[in-house]
Amino acid sequence: MSSEYNPYKNVVDAMEEAMEIGKIDKHMFEIIKNPQREIKVYLPVEMDDGSVKVFEGYRVQHSNIRGPFKGGIRYHQNVTLNEVKALATWMSLKCAVVNIPFGGAKGGIKVDPSTLSKRELCALTRRYTYAIEPIIGADRDIPAPDVNTNAQIMTWLLDTYSQLHGKPCPGVVTGKPLELGGSKGRPSATGRGIVISTKLLLAEDGKELKDTRVAIQGCGNVGGNTARILAHRGAIVVAISDVYGAIYCESGLNADQVTAYVENGGKLTDYNAEGVIHMTNEELLLCDCDVLIPAALENQITADIAKQVKCSYIVEGANGPTTVDADKILQERGIKLVPDIFANSGGVIVSYFEWVQNIQEIAWEKPQVNEMLETILTKAFKEIIEESKRSDCTLRMAAYIIALKRLIHTEEIKGIFP
Ligand code: GLU
Repeated sequence: MSSEYNPYKNVVDAMEEAMEIGKIDKHMFEIIKNPQREIKVYLPVEMDDGSVKVFEGYRVQHSNIRGPFKGGIRYHQNVTLNEVKALATWMSLKCAVVNIPFGGAKGGIKVDPSTLSKRELCALTRRYTYAIEPIIGADRDIPAPDVNTNAQIMTWLLDTYSQLHGKPCPGVVTGKPLELGGSKGRPSATGRGIVISTKLLLAEDGKELKDTRVAIQGCGNVGGNTARILAHRGAIVVAISDVYGAIYCESGLNADQVTAYVENGGKLTDYNAEGVIHMTNEELLLCDCDVLIPAALENQITADIAKQVKCSYIVEGANGPTTVDADKILQERGIKLVPDIFANSGGVIVSYFEWVQNIQEIAWEKPQVNEMLETILTKAFKEIIEESKRSDCTLRMAAYIIALKRLIHTEEIKGIFP
């Protein structure tokens, strides 16, 4: 990450631009610009060697006017309060643009989880849950997985919260295992949503997924599932990367094989197959493809990269992968982009389904989950296209206008307390 990159400024600048383009009354905007609450917690953990380490954690609750705060928890060595604030704001916009009854929040711990043992990771997660327990809950703030967190970590969070409350509280967290009230279809939901977004975008130009050449940055839960589902639908996954590096194959990679290799702990720098060449993550962004899917971290498509990309379309799997300056260049170059707050919303949409199933104490079948996900995304995409035509703007600005109008309208009818 470059030193001057400021993700919170990125999201505020984009919101301000959308307020102008959408001619939205600014009266309530100051409220939306700032989060409702930010907390920082210090988390002591006794390490396996007997030493004591104190980790820093955050939870930012951006808005709960449209429903309980909602958003994942990330474990990463570069986590900062500023980043978590941006991610929490994006969650409010994301839930509003697809019109699900949640607000936005995000959490994070400054740690590289690959340096911890399983026992240390469990202790850290339980201590973090204990620290944020007063402000979370099924009707308050519902965490979920994000970068480097998974169903196991959600299980420890759920168990700690339930122990503190003396009863099972499945609705306090989403992205948990099926056995504990998780939803069918949740693990692959973000990837599935990205594939649906890609399909909807291509359809605007009369194209389809079949034989479309796609490059994906990232091979975690999001990138990995996106690659698999795309390949199953006939797209050609030409490139994919992990934190160590990227692989490229002109005739298409075997997505099932590559993702299984990474899931089993393999590094892509060690992966070999016929026709596969190795490249850097930056080279992947610039490779020859139709659709580029950044599905890792923020600040990847910078102005410099935007000038050189060879793709015709970008679908943002990660949160905030494109800078504001890069956005302008992509627009000038006629590269169409589906913004993160829509493209990666499949995860939180199925989190919403999981939460509804928990409250109603029922379990839906996977086809029902997938069908409802597609229905919500298709409706929201149509609204974004219509708004982009009405306001003559990019899909990002259209998505922001829709989300901001919904948030601001809710502020207006509610009024300011007291
Ligand atoms: N971490 C995911 C996101 O950024 C999912 C959040 C959730 O399900 O609450 O959208």
